[in-house]
Amino acid sequence: MSILLIVPIALGWFAGWIVNYLSDVLPVTRRFSQPTCPHCQSPYSLKGYLLFQPCPNGHARGIRPWIVQAAMIAASLYAWIQPPSKPGFILGFLLIVYFGVVVVIDLEHRLILHPTSVAGALLALVVGVISHGWLPSLQGGLAGFLIMFAFYLLGVWFTRVRAKRLAARGIQADDEEALGAGDVILVTVLGFLVGWPLVWLCILISILLGGIVSLFTIIALFITRGYEKNALMLFIPYGPYFIVSAYLITFFPRFVAAFVPG
Ligand SMILES: [Zn+2]
Repeated sequence: MSILLIVPIALGWFAGWIVNYLSDVLPVTRRFSQPTCPHCQSPYSLKGYLLFQPCPNGHARGIRPWIVQAAMIAASLYAWIQPPSKPGFILGFLLIVYFGVVVVIDLEHRLILHPTSVAGALLALVVGVISHGWLPSLQGGLAGFLIMFAFYLLGVWFTRVRAKRLAARGIQADDEEALGAGDVILVTVLGFLVGWPLVWLCILISILLGGIVSLFTIIALFITRGYEKNALMLFIPYGPYFIVSAYLITFFPRFVAAFVPG
């Protein structure tokens, strides 16, 4: 084990702070504000925040900051040892930070923020152009947009049909959309990153992952008898599946080779 590994570990820890911070403030204030306790809104001191101490009123920070720190260190270490060949470690590292912010905010708030998407699009374009060239990168983004927009319209149609059926039985439907506009933008961004034609693989793997996780969730709900007929209609944040898929494609070339021969 090389002493140099201290560099990606320290950078990973730093990235964890950044991801935790952005996930705490962006969904609440939409800007780089002072983080506040989600339970009582009292502001954290800088030292208290960075050391994961409870808020002044004693509300604990919970387990998420630690999961994020651990995940960022692991991802940073891996990117250091096995950097994506063309973009290299630094761009790979920035990608990990972007991925982390999208995943945490989508899981906690079911939200993909536009400023995050704009920053992500710039980064994804730079990495995509370096990795695949201009044309495949732009084609990947366009294809990602068109495919997901079609899914989005399908989701809107499905939601309407369902609302009508429920209304006929006198039930008020929730107005949650199956697929958000944020997901369309996210896959456009990831399309720039993985390029054409891998954007197909990215979407396919996301759907497979989503299907597998949903299946296990439904089985678990059946076993614990927590299953209700509405459980199937619960909103699933798709963002994390797309991110995991794009991460695998970008950082694990052997994984891609398993799907795309030659
Ligand atoms: Zn508090």
